Amino acid sequence: MTPGAICSPSDALAANPKATKSQTNDRTYDSNGKLTSATVTLAKITGHFSESRSMDPDNYPFGSKITKDAELQVYVIGHELAHVEDAQTPQGRAAQDVPQGLASLLGVMKDVEGTRRMQDDPVAGSLTSILNADAKRNENVADDRAKGIVESFRQCTSKTGCP
Ligand SMILES: [Zn+2]
Repeated sequence: MTPGAICSPSDALAANPKATKSQTNDRTYDSNGKLTSATVTLAKITGHFSESRSMDPDNYPFGSKITKDAELQVYVIGHELAHVEDAQTPQGRAAQDVPQGLASLLGVMKDVEGTRRMQDDPVAGSLTSILNADAKRNENVADDRAKGIVESFRQCTSKTGCP
């Protein structure tokens, strides 16, 4: 795709029949800090409410309440593209970069200290808390964005908001 331009969903979307989880990763940035690519993977179970694992209401306050397949499909696609949109903002990038660095640091600490000592290490505990807070922030941003998309979809399907 053209560097610096995420214009079409087909640039970023991949349906993966083997994926068990929909996710967005492989974000890359140019030297100006502009997002140049990302990979969005949609799991085969997307939009099958009965097969989906339940969503944590803390991370997905809106998504966790959806019970209709069609709305879940709209939600998941909107949610993953919201991660791409968020990654184009400085806050969104920081909330990805910092956790990657911390996760690497935790990995090194685990190698040095061993899993057992890590459990009692206050620094490891603090780093884990920061990682969890960033993950929650990222999911909440995407959940809120997808909420607006699902609400538009509901208006449209009830024939009150279609163009
Ligand atoms: Zn997400």
